[in-house]
Amino acid sequence: MKKPLDQLAPCAALVDIARDFHARGWMPGTAGNLSIRVRDPGPVAADKSPEDTFWITASGLPKGRLEATDFVRVGVRDGAVVERFDVSARPSAESAIHQVIYRHFAEAMACLHVHTVDACLACADVPLSVLEMPLPALEMIKGLGVWQQNPLVTLPLFENTLDVASIAAAIDWRFKGMLPMVPALMVRGHGVTVWGATVQEAYNRVEAVEFLMSYLARAQARK
Ligand SMILES: [Zn+2]
Repeated sequence: MKKPLDQLAPCAALVDIARDFHARGWMPGTAGNLSIRVRDPGPVAADKSPEDTFWITASGLPKGRLEATDFVRVGVRDGAVVERFDVSARPSAESAIHQVIYRHFAEAMACLHVHTVDACLACADVPLSVLEMPLPALEMIKGLGVWQQNPLVTLPLFENTLDVASIAAAIDWRFKGMLPMVPALMVRGHGVTVWGATVQEAYNRVEAVEFLMSYLARAQARK
């Protein structure tokens, strides 16, 4: 077996995942973004409070051809770049969404976002007034940490817009009022974002969510 993702250096693990997801058509072209949190070791001076950072895919690069140097490290709190291998590299345009996830979920160590046809199809007919999309009560729902018989579980739905900051603000606002039932969210016509306490857990959860999205898309096509 290949080394578990959690045993790889952060950017090496994200390169592995990007190639894998690209090969499945989940990160076509430059679409999607992946990140891993780096814990702040703690204050080094009385006037400095700890601030976590995260490595995220640099903007505009083809996901099937990433290397471990194609990442930028930014602050969870302010999104400011603190480390990069190429001075011209910019963090992913959707970095603000990762910031919101890391701020709301202290246990989240990785956040993965993909663009898939099935996820877009799965919510295509869900009315705009519906903010929580019911997920099918399939065995695979256990992959999202739900261990109940016939669970009633929903996935938070958000509107897509060209202004990523406003999507991030909508997620932030909604999660301040009510945390999601599963470690995932969906932006309509765009794709899912999934997080986990380890990068391997986040990876496994993306597969579970996409399984459920594929099921919903195919179930609707049968009607
Ligand atoms: Zn996206």
